[in-house]
Amino acid sequence: MEPLQSLPVKVDVAIVGGGIIGISTAYALTRAGVSVAVFEKGTLACEQSSRNWGWVRSLMRDIPEIPLALLANKRWTEIQQQTDVGFRQSGILYLARTSGELNDYRLWLDKAKPLGVDAVLLDRGGVSAHLPEAKENWIGGLYSQGDGVAEPGLATQGIAELARRHGARIYEHCAVRAVGRQESGVSTIHTEHGTLAANAVLVAGGAWSRLFCGNLGISLPQLKVRASVLSTFPVTPPLDIAVNGRDFTCRPRADGGYTVSQFNASYTDIVPDSFRLFRQFLPAWIKNNGLVKLRLGKAFFREMSIRRRFGSDDISPFEEHRVLDPGPMQSALKSSLKKLAQVFPAFEVAEVQRMWGGYIDVTPDALPIISPVTGHAGLYIATGFSGHGFGIGPAVGEMAARMVLNQNPEIDLTPFRLSRF
Ligand SMILES: Cc1cc2nc3c(=O)[nH]c(=O)nc-3n(C[C@H](O)[C@H](O)[C@H](O)COP(=O)(O)OP(=O)(O)OC[C@H]3O[C@@H](n4cnc5c(N)ncnc54)[C@H](O)[C@@H]3O)c2cc1C
Repeated sequence: MEPLQSLPVKVDVAIVGGGIIGISTAYALTRAGVSVAVFEKGTLACEQSSRNWGWVRSLMRDIPEIPLALLANKRWTEIQQQTDVGFRQSGILYLARTSGELNDYRLWLDKAKPLGVDAVLLDRGGVSAHLPEAKENWIGGLYSQGDGVAEPGLATQGIAELARRHGARIYEHCAVRAVGRQESGVSTIHTEHGTLAANAVLVAGGAWSRLFCGNLGISLPQLKVRASVLSTFPVTPPLDIAVNGRDFTCRPRADGGYTVSQFNASYTDIVPDSFRLFRQFLPAWIKNNGLVKLRLGKAFFREMSIRRRFGSDDISPFEEHRVLDPGPMQSALKSSLKKLAQVFPAFEVAEVQRMWGGYIDVTPDALPIISPVTGHAGLYIATGFSGHGFGIGPAVGEMAARMVLNQNPEIDLTPFRLSRF
């Protein structure tokens, strides 16, 4: 961590947020010889980037994200050769109980195959070849040999270390309050520990990006979904690939345990923004009914108390809320582990090591925003990864770096522009 008294006077690019996206962008920029400062209000990866399942997948991704997923797979391999981020191509298997599920996989594969994914559709026999010990007889599945896992507890720190070696300056416990624009076209970054100038600014603030941008007069539709995860102590079931069985997900961890959850262990807390963004999110709520449940609770009042406008000299909400740390939904997690053990009896003796929660930042179409901001020269956004930004993080960082440097990003970023909303 850089000492806070050493804030530079000026950098080429300032990055708001030290999650996988901000740090991967810093890594790509510094490798291109650009001077970078990253500001993180808490500690590196203290929110989504350390709390996720650790899946690095191309399987069932939205089609516009597939080029990012394929590039990310290569980049994870290269990063792992330089520092241990726990990446390995374990393979990922999505299981199907119904012909409807299998058909969804087939339809996706028809669209994704021409883009170069290695996924294959499996029949009943193909699934049992991968899961010979399973007690359930799935009708088929979708399998990628090249997909895999990385350790969220290591990844962002590992990439940050590589970025530092190339000269990135990374400040923790240093919230950015606001960004202003000077007449010369240079931006002023107002942090809680002083100001600096930057030619360009990237907002990679995860779930805080909407608040940060809103204070600058930029409308960014983004809500939070509360998800829960558990890890087990080391156990030796014969399961070395990551598996999605719908009512459980499970992936092997580098420590010999497993990370377990399920897709429907998520809630969207009803908050004031739910009403402000009602029309934009309504189609997503209808489509995902059953997967993500709406819930009214204390979060409404907590969010209502957060100021939406603040000056650069005021203590900002980013300092008042250093780390988003929602509690896990224990009953949903225990039920996932139980269902997993019904299918793989070796998990009957698996002991829970830890349970945790995390807020996922989502956009109305579940695609990220990787975009310049019209009318705000020099300001860029990379946020809204809607529950799947960890796996593609290294590729997003590379493309965001090219965007900020006005270089052709190679991968089409048009589907991710802010102006689509
Ligand atoms: C439970 C769960 C499971 C998931 N599983 C997967 C998975 O298996 N695979 C996958 O690909 N993705 C997964 N995801 C999603 C993935 O974790 C996120 O998409 C990704 O980590 C987003 O990275 P980020 O850098 O954009 O955001 P974050 O990791 O949230 O980082 C943003 C950072 O910005 C900081 N910040 C915000 N505002 C300011 C400010 N004003 N000043 C300074 N700092 C600021 C925050 O403190 C935070 O650390 C999951 C997420 C969760 C919560």
